[in-house]
Amino acid sequence: MAGTNEPSFRESVDLMFSQAVARMDLPPGLEEKIRVCNATYTVRFGVRLRGQLHTFTGYRSVHSEHMEPVKGGIRYATEVNQNEVEALAALMTYKCALVETPFGGSKGGLCINPRDWDEHELEQITRRFAYELIKRDLISPSQNVPAPDMGTSEREMAWIADQYNRMNTTDINANACVTGKPLHGGGIAGRVEATGRGVQYALHEFFRHPEDIATAGLSGTLEGKRIIVQGLGNVGYHAAQFLSVEDGARITGIIERDGGLFNPDGMNVDAVAHWIRVNGGVQGCPEGAYLADGAVLLEEECDILIPAAVEGVINLGNAARVKAPLIIEAANGPITAGADAVLRGRGAVIIPDLYANAGGVTVSYFEWVKNLSHIRFGRMQRRQEEARHKLIVDQLETLSEALGNTWSLTPHFKERYLRGADELELVRSGLDDTMRTAYQSMREVWHGREDIPDLRTAAYVVAITRVAESYRAKGL
Ligand code: GLU
Repeated sequence: MAGTNEPSFRESVDLMFSQAVARMDLPPGLEEKIRVCNATYTVRFGVRLRGQLHTFTGYRSVHSEHMEPVKGGIRYATEVNQNEVEALAALMTYKCALVETPFGGSKGGLCINPRDWDEHELEQITRRFAYELIKRDLISPSQNVPAPDMGTSEREMAWIADQYNRMNTTDINANACVTGKPLHGGGIAGRVEATGRGVQYALHEFFRHPEDIATAGLSGTLEGKRIIVQGLGNVGYHAAQFLSVEDGARITGIIERDGGLFNPDGMNVDAVAHWIRVNGGVQGCPEGAYLADGAVLLEEECDILIPAAVEGVINLGNAARVKAPLIIEAANGPITAGADAVLRGRGAVIIPDLYANAGGVTVSYFEWVKNLSHIRFGRMQRRQEEARHKLIVDQLETLSEALGNTWSLTPHFKERYLRGADELELVRSGLDDTMRTAYQSMREVWHGREDIPDLRTAAYVVAITRVAESYRAKGL
C-alpha cells in the first residue's frame, strides 16, 4: 500500500490525469467533466449464512458515460472502498479510450475475503449483490457490463449472468450483461488469459522499437531477460508463463502473499503455480530460494519488473530502491504518483497500466460483440477468410504448374491454410492488433512532442483527447 504522506489512489490517478491535461488545450469545464466520477452507488445487503445474518458492503462506480455501456470489473477484497473503486473506474474510462473499445468507465467492488466463504456461500452472496445492481441498471447489456477482477473469476460471472437472465427472461441480449463468462456459458476463447496475453503483446511491441528499448537502457530481445513478477494470480501467472515459455525470458523472482522466490537462472512458472495451489503459498517451493519478506524482490536487480497484484506497491517508501530499468504495470495503479516521479527521475521506463493491462477489456469487448451478434464468434470472418485463402492457394497452384511443377504446396500447408482461423486465433490476433495500434498512438505522442516526458503522460493525452472528442460530438 502507499506510504504515508502520499495521495490516495483516486488522487494519484487524478494527478496523472492533470499532468496530461496541463499539456493539452481543453475548453474550460471539460477537463473537470472528464475527470470527475459521475456516480458511485453503495449498497449494504444482508445474506443469511451459517444460521446468522451477515451484512456486506458493495460498490459500483460509474466514472464516465461518454460511451455506453460503461465497463469494468468487480473486485472481491477486504480492502475494497469507495476511493479505490472510483480510481479503478476512472482508469477504465482512460483504458477503454486508449485501446478504442467503445465503452465508458466503471468498476465495482465487494468488501469480502473470498477465502472466508465456501463456494455455495459465495454464490448466494454474489447473486444477492448482482440482484441489487441489476435492479438499478448497474448491470445491463446496454448500460453497464461488469467483468472479473481481483478475487473474482468466470465462476462469479456465470452466477451474475444467470441472475440477470432470471430477472430479465425476455431480454434476448441477456448474456451480454457481463463478460468473462465461462466458455460454455456464453464466454469467448482466450478471455481468461487475455490480460496476461496483453502484457506479453505489449512487451513484444515495446521490443520492436530499438529507440524505446535503448531509452530503458536495455538491448536485444526478450530472450534471456530477467523478469520479476509480483502476484501470480490470473494476470501475473499468464504473463510470466507466456514470457518464459514462448519468449525465452527468465522469471528470476516471484512475489506472493506469503513471501517471495528468487532464482537467478529462472523458474518454471507452472511448477510454482502448482505449488501455490497445493500448499497455499510459495514457501518451500524448490523452484527458488524463499524470502519471507517478498517485497524486497521489488528492489532486486532485474531487466523487467511486472507488478501484477494491487495498487500502491511501489510508493515513496521503496521507489528509490527499485532498480528495474523497465516496469510494466500489469496491475491497476501499482505505482503511486510520487513513486512515478522518483522512477522517472532516474530514467526508468514505465509501460502504464491503462495500456499494459488493457488486454482484459479488449477481449471482453469481443465477448460482448459475440453475445450481441448471436453468432459463434469468427464464423463470418472465417467464411470470408476461407474464400480468400482458397483464391490464394489456387493462384499458387497455377503458378506452380506454370513453373513446370518444380515446387508445390505441401498437403499440410494447404490443409492448415484453407481451414482459416478458429476463435482463439481470431481473439489473439485481434488482441495483438489492438495492443500494437494503441502502442503506436501513445508512441507518436511520446516521441512526437517535446513536452511529453513519458509513456504514461502520452497514454493519458491520447485517451483524454478521445473522451473529449466524444463529449464534443455529443454537443457538450
Ligand atoms: N477488470 C479488468 C480491468 O481492470 C477487466 C475489465 C473488463 O473486462 O471489463 O481492466
